[in-house]
Amino acid sequence: MQIHSLSLHELSQKLQTKELSSKEVTSAFLDRIKKYDQRLHAFLEVFEQEALEEASKIDTKRCRDLESLGALAGIPIGIKNNILIQGKKITAGSKMLESYIGAYDATVIEWLREEGMIFMGTTNMDEFAMGSSTENSFFGPTKNPWNISKVPGGTSGGSAASVAASMVPVALGSDTGGSIRQPASLCGVVGLKPTYGRVSRFGLMAMTSSFDQIGPLGKNVQDIAHLFSLIARADKRDATNAINQDIILDELIGKQEISDLRIGLPKEYFVEGMDEEIKQAVLEVANILEKQGATVKEISLPHTPYALAAYYIILFCEASSNLERFDGIRYGFSSQGKNLMEVYEQTRGQGFGAEVKRRIMLGTFALSKGYYDAYYRKALQVRTLIKNDFLESFKEVDVLLTPTSPSIAWDIGEKFNDPLTMYLSDIYTVSANLATIPALSLPCRFSKSGLPIGAQFMARPFDEYHLFQAGMFYQSITDWHKQTPSLV
Ligand code: GLN
Repeated sequence: MQIHSLSLHELSQKLQTKELSSKEVTSAFLDRIKKYDQRLHAFLEVFEQEALEEASKIDTKRCRDLESLGALAGIPIGIKNNILIQGKKITAGSKMLESYIGAYDATVIEWLREEGMIFMGTTNMDEFAMGSSTENSFFGPTKNPWNISKVPGGTSGGSAASVAASMVPVALGSDTGGSIRQPASLCGVVGLKPTYGRVSRFGLMAMTSSFDQIGPLGKNVQDIAHLFSLIARADKRDATNAINQDIILDELIGKQEISDLRIGLPKEYFVEGMDEEIKQAVLEVANILEKQGATVKEISLPHTPYALAAYYIILFCEASSNLERFDGIRYGFSSQGKNLMEVYEQTRGQGFGAEVKRRIMLGTFALSKGYYDAYYRKALQVRTLIKNDFLESFKEVDVLLTPTSPSIAWDIGEKFNDPLTMYLSDIYTVSANLATIPALSLPCRFSKSGLPIGAQFMARPFDEYHLFQAGMFYQSITDWHKQTPSLV
């Protein structure tokens, strides 16, 4: 038995029946990290000693049977390096926070700790979650496990690569405009962006507060649903968190058929000139589900062409405001200067990378007097139109099916100096953040060149249920999600 290829469900069963100990499981995954992470650079830090100690504690508890343990107790998880863990270096991939130590646990960390999950380490990411390839990390890029000359996608590229290479069974990421789904797609794993407000953002470093959302990455939809059920809870410390949440795992994963499922194919997502392999792969998902009883119809989301522009304007504005706090005085990196102004300038000039500076400048411009109405307010109005498109479409269908990414994984360096091309790689994912709806990416085929292709399902707000229903059913009759990179 290869421990690293077991699903979360299988690991949980074997731990509960004591066929495996948490120490064995944790060691098996640590061995994978030791073997492969030098090449992949998915982790920024590995908590080897602590992980083993925690695993032993869980094993002791289980042997005594004194305390009731959570279903995922003793199972390893990777955490994106922008989610606070008390006492650990949390940098958001930036020089600005190179030596910043988490002052407290984020709410999701607190809950997973209570559950008894084992934190294996923090995963690499684009600086302050800005990018689509994990090349913007101050600490160097992560490589795609399917081909190490390719990017893993971003910004949760470390989390996606760590799952794809079976260095952890599951990981947490954050998604502002696609940062969970797009790397999941490029690395051939499953990723969920929950509904905005579903998962507490307390302790997540803010980039664009009205889009940011924490979510799970894993190898199959069932594992994702399980982890989601643990973190989708009400939290008073996040004012945007939904108060009434009643997630019952059995209901999430209970239904094994799709005869009542209505699937919409938005015509604006399948246009002339798009990548033919990706188009065919996603249409094939629709075909397969239709043959099994689902209804498939074409629908329209007419404001789609404006989504990317609206997304980036809102993002620049909110990010420029959120990143004001890095002034060289309160947090992290600080540079010398003759006076206060110079301290600010030197600190921000040296502490932030090029993409972060670009966004701060554009955001500051768009929020300035005279431009606020022309750009920011307009973008908010477009956001409402886009959200309304989605709500209209969900009167007719339960889920929408689209590609996750317009291209498969590209060469490291290929788009690095071309920010506009890089922004275009988010074209299919940003709308879900604008509309605050949940969206799931799952592997649905491989390209001729052997790289994963992802399909995306979107559903109405707080209806992750239909995403899981569609995704789990699809995975029960196909095996794309079972493919693993050879890593030789
Ligand atoms: N690629 C998108 C961006 O650069 C998404 C970022 C994210 O989701 N954190 O903004």
